Amino acid sequence: MKYIMLSYMLEESSPVHIGLQEPQIIPNAQISKGGGYNSYIINVENHSGTHVDAPGHFLEGGKIISEYKPDELVFNNPLILEVPKKQNELIKLEEVSNLNLEGINCIFFRTGFGKYREKDSETYLTSNPGIESELVYWLRKNYPEIKCIGIDCISMSSYQKPEEGKKAHLNAFMKNEELGEPLLLVEDMDLEIDEKLDSVETVFIIPWQIKGIDSAPCVVMAKINR
Ligand SMILES: [Zn+2]
Repeated sequence: MKYIMLSYMLEESSPVHIGLQEPQIIPNAQISKGGGYNSYIINVENHSGTHVDAPGHFLEGGKIISEYKPDELVFNNPLILEVPKKQNELIKLEEVSNLNLEGINCIFFRTGFGKYREKDSETYLTSNPGIESELVYWLRKNYPEIKCIGIDCISMSSYQKPEEGKKAHLNAFMKNEELGEPLLLVEDMDLEIDEKLDSVETVFIIPWQIKGIDSAPCVVMAKINR
């Protein structure tokens, strides 16, 4: 048994959504400059790096990430699904609708787009694949045990298809009698792992513990069964 990260380390150079402030990690007191200790000031928008979106991101009064209990952030039956995608392509309902997802409580979509993150951040940010809104609705309606989905792209929304992306977010978060609990959405995940996808046994999503914010940067740790 071992543990791996499915989240990226946050750096000043981390690619962030177009329009967001870039992360600042500023040395404050520094021993090398004659200080008595080391410390840093960290200035980061909450949708930077690997982060988890909660309903309050799109819905006024929606549940916010700081209201989630630890029990709601541990997933004992995750599925990492291989769905190779080219630039601007959407993950479609028909790719998932014939799978048996009984018992699964969390799905991470591996599009392979993570390979652009370092080498071509422009492509990573502006040509990313996304998820079809209809698929999100279908998952909530048919598999209420699924409480979280994630993706190895900067967003669930394809940058080139913002309307469809907004719908996908709303379908994840909205209150609707036909649907169960809203979903959490983990974006900018590191799914470029060497381990076999089905060896991922348990996933822990650990958002920064900051009161009152809609969503938060997070650590995603996975327990690997080998
Ligand atoms: Zn976000």
